[in-house]
Amino acid sequence: MSSNSTRCDATRLIHTGPSANQQAGAVNPPIYRASTIIYDNVENYVNRRRDRFFDGVMYGLYGTPTAIALAQTISDLERAEGTVLTGSGTAAIACVLSSFVKTGEHILLADSVYGQTRDYCEEVLSRFGIEISYFEPTAAAEIEHHIRPNTRLLFLESPGSNTFEMIDIPQVLAVTKKHGVLTAIDNTWASPLFYKPLEAGIDISIQSGTKYISGHSDAMLGSISTGSRKIFEVLKKTAGINGHRASPDDCALVHRGIRTLEVRLKQHQKTALELMNWFSMQPEVAEILSPAWEDNPGYQIWRRDFTGASGLFGVTLYQPYENVLTQLIESLELFQIGSSWGGYESLIVPVPAPQRRYPNNYSTLPLIRIHAGLENTADLIADLEHAFAILRKQKISKYVNRY
Ligand SMILES: *Cc1c(COP(=O)(O)O)cnc(C)c1O
Repeated sequence: MSSNSTRCDATRLIHTGPSANQQAGAVNPPIYRASTIIYDNVENYVNRRRDRFFDGVMYGLYGTPTAIALAQTISDLERAEGTVLTGSGTAAIACVLSSFVKTGEHILLADSVYGQTRDYCEEVLSRFGIEISYFEPTAAAEIEHHIRPNTRLLFLESPGSNTFEMIDIPQVLAVTKKHGVLTAIDNTWASPLFYKPLEAGIDISIQSGTKYISGHSDAMLGSISTGSRKIFEVLKKTAGINGHRASPDDCALVHRGIRTLEVRLKQHQKTALELMNWFSMQPEVAEILSPAWEDNPGYQIWRRDFTGASGLFGVTLYQPYENVLTQLIESLELFQIGSSWGGYESLIVPVPAPQRRYPNNYSTLPLIRIHAGLENTADLIADLEHAFAILRKQKISKYVNRY
């Protein structure tokens, strides 16, 4: 597949994987459900670990051809040497966090990481004598002060969960390379379509495939990709020991979803920008939280390092609106209330004050998180106008003049 290396992502997403003639003419990989794998002789069975563990079909836990095909497509998009699939993004994160660090060593995390990432470190790993600490994501220049002699892994997420701060990754990598610290990133927001962590020099790229890669809110999956065969083998082993797997059915759904990732993400991006523009003009709105928004402090880094933005962003309202947040959200019809995101539907949720080691501006203001779905933008704006009109009829209107 030498010609593949020059192809664009949109083309790769359509054409990567087994060809139709390898699968009875079917376009997309069929679903192979299996626990037991039958061997044609004793020798092949006895040598199965050696011959099939990392790349072949050995036992259901390690993937059937359905998972192998999806891992290949994700590797192609990530420009990875190998990809390990898990049953959820959360499992992928836990697998990375637990694969390389031993008692007495230290993991440094961005203060803006996903809540479960934090919880896994503080509630599980710390019980095994692993040191956990955080750095302020917008203060990449100070990262060297946070590196300890026993720092083994740096875990990033950019933009950060819920508050969307950007990390200056090249600046961070200059320091981690000097100190021989392994790096991993949760790249779910941008997806490998809009940011390629491995090309940027990060060792491990994690996706919650549940989000955009799947795109239809009906499957859960995690992926871990790396440019190093050695790292891939460690991850694959640890994932297996922990019993992580992605079900063949979910792999098939996610593979179906990823084919249209580029067209979907471009549309999510366009709608999100139009919605941000609308929000920015409302007197109740304090700030738009997205690196793709020009006034956002992360905008320059995003412009420099990313090739696009997804549909997820935050909006902070002025303090007095805290009391009517519930009513505002419940007045919406097209924006539904629900976690997760990256599917075709628009979502809105209130975000509680984020858990943080370092103080930030957002923790005091009421924050909502919006996922721009694939509905018509004018319809979405009409829905917002309607909900804000209801809010403005409330007593709260007396506060508006204060801002
Ligand atoms: C949703 C999410 C996860 C967890 O993924 P699941 O597949 O739901 O377990 C991890 N990281 C980020 C940034 C997420 O948004």
